[in-house]
Amino acid sequence: MRRTYRGSCHCGAVAFEADLDLEESSYRCNCSICRRTRFWPAVARPEGFRLLSGESELTEYRFNTHSNVHYFCRRCGVRPFGVGNETPIGKMYGVNLGCLEDVDDETLSRIPITRVDGRNDGWGDEPRFGGYL
Ligand SMILES: [Zn+2]
Repeated sequence: MRRTYRGSCHCGAVAFEADLDLEESSYRCNCSICRRTRFWPAVARPEGFRLLSGESELTEYRFNTHSNVHYFCRRCGVRPFGVGNETPIGKMYGVNLGCLEDVDDETLSRIPITRVDGRNDGWGDEPRFGGYL
């Protein structure tokens, strides 16, 4: 069931609301940025994401095609979300599930995870070795 969750970075400067269905799959990806940051996103639609505060603290990082925006808080370094502009489902927000404030460990543990081979642009493929993701 889709509902609104509130999330924040570690220092609290960046706060957001996102409409998410935690029964839908989240993602773990082996690409160069996800692997380094252990990013664990759920997908929000553009109309289902609202930045509440911290726009001035958000720093964007882009690489490769520069089409996806990887945001992090310049004070605490946490990545609360990213924006994919050219994905199989169009523009989407990848919301870092570790940043949600009102979700307990049991609920987090039940969220389905799909592992994807982003390193090889295999967004529909399970990586051969994905157990560490
Ligand atoms: Zn912060």
